[in-house]
Amino acid sequence: MQPAARQNAIYWALLAAAFAVALTASWTSFGAQIDNDAYDTMFRLYQPPPWQPQSILLAIDDRSLNAYGGVPGLRKPLAEALELIDAAAPKAVAVDIILADRTDPKIDARLEQALHATANLVLACQLLPDDSGWEDPLPIFRAQAAELGHVHAEPDELDSVGRSIPLEKAAGHDRRWALSLAAYRLSRGGAQIIESPRDLNVGGVVIPSTFAGGRLMRIRYAPPSVKIPRVSMKDLLDHPGLASWFKGKVVFAGVTSQIAAKDWLFTPYSAGRPMVGVEIHANAFETIAQGLFIRDAPPWTVLAFSLLLVVALGVTYSRLRPLAANGLGAAILVTAHVTPYWFFTHRIFFSFATPVSAAWLSLITAGSYQFLIVRRRLRLSEADRDRYRQTIHFVTHEMRTPLTAIQGSSEMMSRYALPEQKRKQIADLINAESKRLGRMIEMFLNVERLSAGQMELKKETFSARELLAACVQRALPLAERKQIRILTAALAEDLVLAGDRELMEYAFYNLLTNAIKYSPPRTQVTLAAVRKHDHSYISVEDQGIGMDQKEVKKIFQKFYRTKRAEQSGEVGTGIGLSIVEQIITQHSGTIEVMSRPGQGSRFTIVLPASVPAAVVKQS
Ligand code: ADP
Repeated sequence: MQPAARQNAIYWALLAAAFAVALTASWTSFGAQIDNDAYDTMFRLYQPPPWQPQSILLAIDDRSLNAYGGVPGLRKPLAEALELIDAAAPKAVAVDIILADRTDPKIDARLEQALHATANLVLACQLLPDDSGWEDPLPIFRAQAAELGHVHAEPDELDSVGRSIPLEKAAGHDRRWALSLAAYRLSRGGAQIIESPRDLNVGGVVIPSTFAGGRLMRIRYAPPSVKIPRVSMKDLLDHPGLASWFKGKVVFAGVTSQIAAKDWLFTPYSAGRPMVGVEIHANAFETIAQGLFIRDAPPWTVLAFSLLLVVALGVTYSRLRPLAANGLGAAILVTAHVTPYWFFTHRIFFSFATPVSAAWLSLITAGSYQFLIVRRRLRLSEADRDRYRQTIHFVTHEMRTPLTAIQGSSEMMSRYALPEQKRKQIADLINAESKRLGRMIEMFLNVERLSAGQMELKKETFSARELLAACVQRALPLAERKQIRILTAALAEDLVLAGDRELMEYAFYNLLTNAIKYSPPRTQVTLAAVRKHDHSYISVEDQGIGMDQKEVKKIFQKFYRTKRAEQSGEVGTGIGLSIVEQIITQHSGTIEVMSRPGQGSRFTIVLPASVPAAVVKQS
């Protein structure tokens, strides 16, 4: 795989991991609690338009309890209050007091009478502690009720905040609707409740609450701008004229004293102040009556949106420049935070923890990965520049030698009258040095042209053996200086290569001189050229300083030299092998390097045999 492709694969794998971590985290209780907090915050931030409440509370508050002797003394004043309310013709009356036990028969009969006179009456019931059955009102009271409604809430497992109520509860097959739903149904002329797995339909109002989810309904608690009216029971009995407040309303009667009521809960609005059960029922009723249902977004949409954020961030950081990427990244992050709120204003609860954690984690991952890559590139290009500077320094230094020779010689020729033989000698020297200079310039130009892909390759066929013999010839003085033997026994007679002869010679000559340069005296360099199947293998093997694997990976980079090579005292530019590699690549070949520090190296050039073996033998 190309380094860029590998980098890209690692980048996306890291982002995928970030996404997986974000998903897992958002499924933990920590993620669930973040969602809860986000829900409550959005609940407080987004206020639905105010509405006219259709319910009213008959509040059995501390004053009422004090006046009538606490909860045990309630039945008589309750009967009186209900009679007053009946006269005002409310739409329905829900009594959130479990009338399960007997008290004074006379008082019970009085209450029975009052209940009997109450139209659309819902009485409260609750599951027995072990869920084995229902704790119902006494039969005499029950007989007066149009319906029984359960009074259970469903506080959140994590923080005990009451955000939803179950619209139905069952003990075995004995099922009851919630008090609020029962009151709503009766207030709408006893509309049928039509059930489907996804919702309940009450007289055309569709309440989203899945059967699988326990028929939970999120309560849209009335915002501060909407006050559900309440009349204290004591006030009503002291001032019967207050009964007119109840006209056309759905009445929720219950204990509102925080001390006496045991069924209070915290709500998204409460800020430390709990809400009593009867008020929660009235709020649930208002939710249904106003149709202010809050649905849950399907999990797959949350997943798809979060994935989209990860991909968007990934593309942003891999394609854009850092400044633009950070700008767009911040915008995507804001989108992740704002989207759940946008949904909330459309009464859909869209998870906050999943997209936000996915966005944050991928932003951090993508940002830091790209930052590291940029830093690395910067480091590499700085190192390149350094080497380039060194090379220019070296090249100018190298060029100075032939130039000085040319200058000196030509000056001598013009200043002095030299004998003909001397003049010829000096002219030859000038010629040789200028040619050397020309070759050097040519080589550096070739590097540039080769890497820019501007160099045209000639298409010739030539004998590998002859080519290598020419290289050996040129390298011989170098080798002799170090008493290095060049073995050529393994050169196949008939191996023909195809391509640009001049460039190929440059490549092999380079490998050969490297082998000599980077070997100690009195060692040997072995050349081999063979044809196997459809490929030609030409190798140069030495017994020199060698390299470790890390170094081998870098030697084809421009200007790279190993430490060992620099310490060897051999001059070099680190440019030769990069040209060799380009030449061989242009010929559709590859270079294999085997090397061990201190033991030697073998460079093998593998070329496709473009000339069929049969033709080679005949020619
Ligand atoms: P130069 O020889 O001018 O430094 P090259 O591009 O030809 O540049 O080679 C790059 C580097 O590869 C060398 O500096 C040396 O460190 C290493 N190298 C090349 N050939 C050999 C070899 N035969 N043995 C050990 N090291 C080698």
